[in-house]
Amino acid sequence: MKPLFLLSLSLLAVVSSAKDFDFFYFVQQWPGSYCDTKRACCYPVTGKPDPIFTIHGLWPNYNDGTYPSNCDQQNEFDAREIEDLQRTMEEYWPTLACPTGNGLKFWAHEWDKHGTCTESTLDQHSYFLSALNLYKKANLLKALQDAGIEPDDRFYSVDSIKLAIKESVGFTPGLECNKDGSGNQQLSEVYLCVDKSGQKFINCPNFPRISCRKQVQFPSF
Ligand code: 5GP
Ligand code: 5GP
Repeated sequence: MKPLFLLSLSLLAVVSSAKDFDFFYFVQQWPGSYCDTKRACCYPVTGKPDPIFTIHGLWPNYNDGTYPSNCDQQNEFDAREIEDLQRTMEEYWPTLACPTGNGLKFWAHEWDKHGTCTESTLDQHSYFLSALNLYKKANLLKALQDAGIEPDDRFYSVDSIKLAIKESVGFTPGLECNKDGSGNQQLSEVYLCVDKSGQKFINCPNFPRISCRKQVQFPSF
C-alpha cells in the first residue's frame, strides 16, 4: 500500500506543478474613471497622464474563470531588467494610485501578483514588453472615437462600446464599470483576451463578472 500511496503523491505533485495558465486578460483602464470616484487618485511624478486608456495589467487566467496569483516569491521585480522600457511605461502604464509615485510600485505589484505566474512563457522583460506591444495594437480611444464615442461625460450604450472595439481590434471586449461620486456607472476598464504567447488577441474563453448597466458614462479626463 505504502509505495502506491507515495507514487500517487508524486504524480499529484507533477500534475499540480504542470498546471499552467490558459490565456491572458490584457486590461486597460480609463484614467477619467479611476480618478472620478469617492476615492482620490494621484497623478504620477511625471505629471498628469495623457487622456488615453492606459495599461492596468496582463493577467494569466484559466478557462474556468479562476486564475493563479503570486506564483514565485523568489522571482522578485527588478527595475534594472526593464530600464529600457521605463520611459514608455511611464507614458502608457502610469500609476494613478495615491500617494504619487513613479510607477515602480505598481509595476512591481503587477509582476509579483500576475507576472510571476507566466514564467513558463515570459521572463520579466518579455512580460512587460508583451504588454506594451499589445497596447500598440489596441488603440481603444481611437476605436471609440471613430464610432463617435467621446470622453465627454455623456452616456453611451455598452453594446455600442463593445461593437466599436470589436470593429477596430477584431475581438469583443469585456467591460468593467465603477461609480462616480454621485453613483453614476462609468466605463472603467476594458478586458481583451490574449493567447498564451502574450502576442495575439483571441476570443475570450470567458468574461469577468459584468459590472456595467446598459448605458454607462464615459467621463472626461
Ligand atoms: P477587482 O476585484 O477590483 O476587479 O480586481 C482586483 C484585482 O484582482 C485585479 O486588479 C486583478 O489583480 C485581480 N483580478 C480580478 N479579476 C481577475 C481575473 O479575472 N483574472 C486575473 N488574473 N486577475 C483578476
Ligand atoms: P490589482 O487591482 O491589479 O490587484 O492591484 C492594483 C494595485 O496597484 C493596487 O494596490 C493599487 O493601489 C495599485 N495601483 C497603483 N497605481 C494604479 C493604477 O493606476 N491603477 C490601478 N488599478 N491600480 C494601481
